[in-house]
Amino acid sequence: MKYSIGLLRGDGIGPEIVDSAVRVLRAVGEKFGHEFVFTPYLIGGAAIDACGQPLPKETVDGCLASDSVLLGAVGGPKWDHLPGNLRPEKALLGIREAMGLFTNLRPAKLYPALKAECPLREDIVEKGFDIMIVRELTGGIYFGERGYREGRYGEEAYDTERYSRMEIERIVRVAFETARKRRKKLTSIDKANVLETSRLWRKIFHEIAAEYPDVEATDMLVDNAAMQLVRNPAQFDVIVTSNMFGDILSDEASQITGSIGMLESASLSDCKRGLYEPIHGSAPDIAGQGKANPIATILSAAMMLLYAFDLKDEAGAIVAAVEKALADGLRTADIARGGAAVSTDEMTDAIVQRL
Ligand code: NAD
Repeated sequence: MKYSIGLLRGDGIGPEIVDSAVRVLRAVGEKFGHEFVFTPYLIGGAAIDACGQPLPKETVDGCLASDSVLLGAVGGPKWDHLPGNLRPEKALLGIREAMGLFTNLRPAKLYPALKAECPLREDIVEKGFDIMIVRELTGGIYFGERGYREGRYGEEAYDTERYSRMEIERIVRVAFETARKRRKKLTSIDKANVLETSRLWRKIFHEIAAEYPDVEATDMLVDNAAMQLVRNPAQFDVIVTSNMFGDILSDEASQITGSIGMLESASLSDCKRGLYEPIHGSAPDIAGQGKANPIATILSAAMMLLYAFDLKDEAGAIVAAVEKALADGLRTADIARGGAAVSTDEMTDAIVQRL
């Protein structure tokens, strides 16, 4: 099969880590008989330097025409003085909006080789965890009506949580499909004891659950979920939740895994096209020094193979190669705990060799 992939290298360590992921994808293509065609587009500070704006039209058009998109990271001190709408980070919201990316998938997985990095108690760490958070990305309180007004006690402000059936249905379906590709267990997190939007969310969740009898579907209140994530994270497989709850819970989940350089993510639209990126930023402090951990971006490429192209074995091969490299003791500086560290290229070589 032939797949076109738009590359948004961006700024800081972005070009280094995207190039690492490209090398891994090329090796997977050779091994499994696929052709990946890569086309780079400008984004962020690099685009500002080249043409005066963070998200040029050619970039948007190119991404929309690609089968999928891989992003490094944008931003850096060089562009920090610019006004908000001209800053590199503005391009992230712009490309998500242009591609209609309403789903954010964020895995939080504890790699056996990195157990020492986990801040949780030893007996919890021993059980391990592998969670996928499915967060609604374009609705809810972040996009509802808001404002300031004069209230009974003077100045007041308000934000409104609003969800339509369509918005809930489509994210819940993504979550069930995601659970089907994993351990077939889905937890919907809401605040149905207080919020109307949560009660609608819960009703629709159970309607759709009837279409997926092979997936174990349960509800959990968000306050309990925040506690359970640190008490017993092993109980979760896939979590689906609203924009704000997902924002908070996915940060909590990422913190219990160890290093930011390890965590991948996907933002998805109605069609299979999506945008895949590490959760970290452009790390200007280590850019150009060969110190960046490429694993988050390499795992983002694995997510692309699984979710955009349905290439389960190929995605699994990348994850297995990363796990093998870690088990064999290879560490970039961020996960070396002061011990011997390999460079970005050396870690990439090691993963390619183990494919
Ligand atoms: P950051 O994630 O770039 O870096 C935080 C710390 O983690 C730094 O010490 C960095 O060296 C380290 N780190 C990050 N990724 C690493 C990796 N792969 N390997 C090893 N170490 C890694 O966050 P920041 O410093 O707050 O932001 C830097 C710039 O990135 C800012 O301009 C910010 O706006 C931007 N940013 C972009 C994105 C994105 O493009 N999606 C996300 C967050 C921040």
